Amino acid sequence: MSVAKPRLVVLGTGFAGYSMLLRLPRDLYDVTLISPRNYFLFLPLLPSAVTGTVELRSIVEPVRRRLGHLRFLEAAAQSVDWERRVVRATGAVDGSAFETPFDLLVIAVGSRPHDYGIPGVSTYALRAASIEDAREIRSRILSQFARADLPGLADDEIQRLLTFAVVGGGPTGVEVAAEIHDLLREELKRAFPVLAPRARIVLLEGGARVLSQYRQALAGYAERHFRREGIEVRTQTTVAAIGPREITLKDGGTLLYGMAVWATGNAPTGFVSCLEGLPIEKGRIGVDDRLRVRGREDVFALGDCAAFGDPPLPATAQVAQTQGKYLAKQLRDRARGRAAKPFRFRPVGMLAYVGGGRALADLPHSQWSGRGAWIFWRSVYLTKLVSLPNKAKVLFDWIKAALFGRDLSRF
Ligand SMILES: Cc1cc2nc3c(=O)[nH]c(=O)nc-3n(C[C@H](O)[C@H](O)[C@H](O)COP(=O)(O)OP(=O)(O)OC[C@H]3O[C@@H](n4cnc5c(N)ncnc54)[C@H](O)[C@@H]3O)c2cc1C
Repeated sequence: MSVAKPRLVVLGTGFAGYSMLLRLPRDLYDVTLISPRNYFLFLPLLPSAVTGTVELRSIVEPVRRRLGHLRFLEAAAQSVDWERRVVRATGAVDGSAFETPFDLLVIAVGSRPHDYGIPGVSTYALRAASIEDAREIRSRILSQFARADLPGLADDEIQRLLTFAVVGGGPTGVEVAAEIHDLLREELKRAFPVLAPRARIVLLEGGARVLSQYRQALAGYAERHFRREGIEVRTQTTVAAIGPREITLKDGGTLLYGMAVWATGNAPTGFVSCLEGLPIEKGRIGVDDRLRVRGREDVFALGDCAAFGDPPLPATAQVAQTQGKYLAKQLRDRARGRAAKPFRFRPVGMLAYVGGGRALADLPHSQWSGRGAWIFWRSVYLTKLVSLPNKAKVLFDWIKAALFGRDLSRF
């Protein structure tokens, strides 16, 4: 007589959930994976996809390709009934509601951009956190040029249309500004020789410097490089509101803009905000040293939605992926009756692209900037991409962009 395997329900196909499932042996659990996205998205290359340096399809991996052996439900979890031990969810395509029972639950639903309640952010600013966002930004940049190119526009209206504001001087904001600048310098200058020199990129940062998590010298390099390239960096500049044409700053100043990208802060997803009976700390689920949700033996949380340690580890792909690998091992040991060791995280460093074929590498025992760091940045991302087809596609995209330029069709 065969013994029923424990029912393991995993929520999320991001860095944490996907890397965990890729390493979990197939025969130990009866696994159900629930996520509204039927693909894994390699977010660190999203800023490059915004401008078409790499194509969107090169940085996604369909979940069913490598995880076809388990039950995958394309749906969003809505709530958990802890008494009955079921996840309530709704289908991603038609919204139909259903329940899935579990013995063990893994919550890896990530986070979403935080608007800090600032008026107008969700209405007027674009985000850089999903495939849809990347497609929208790319199309919007091209639309701004198409609009500014029409006859009869006043000079100051052209200037407004071609002002690209990026809010947030963290790695995402810096990389988005750098990629937009590359697009301007390398492609739009040829397509719009009169308009492109008038375009402005303005990076707004509330703190004293950009890239506050990086060493001071590297952040200084990024700021100097941006200024040299004509990207305006405004530090200690906090946004108070965003209107359809104007950003209002806390100091009372204003910035007329054509496109604004909001790239700052993480907020809990709707699902995490609605969870009852769990220890939620600053929007993240508190976990113990084995990634178990505090007070619950059979529920785990990892990645951006989990708060591990004091202060909590940062919300990065590196942390999420390491936690995913750790949990796969822990669940394997658990199924075989072995005790789990505590989770440990050793950072391997941070990278950021700053445009013009230059990058920063902030490593535990060294720091690096410029062209060499850019080659390192590209090699690291190429090796980190999860599948061989994605590695090949990204490499091909880079070669294609270098030889033939990026595609400027707007659709
Ligand atoms: C533009 C950008 C660039 C970045 N660059 C870097 C970088 O260079 N280096 C780095 O270390 N980090 C980087 N990060 C941060 C990194 O991507 C995140 O920390 C990482 O993705 C977190 O992994 P995760 O699995 O927790 O969440 P995610 O990867 O966001 O995955 C969350 C998953 O949960 C699913 N989900 C959401 N809601 C539900 C629900 N209700 N039910 C079921 N599933 C749900 C989503 O569809 C998704 O599949 C970047 C982030 C962004 C946005």
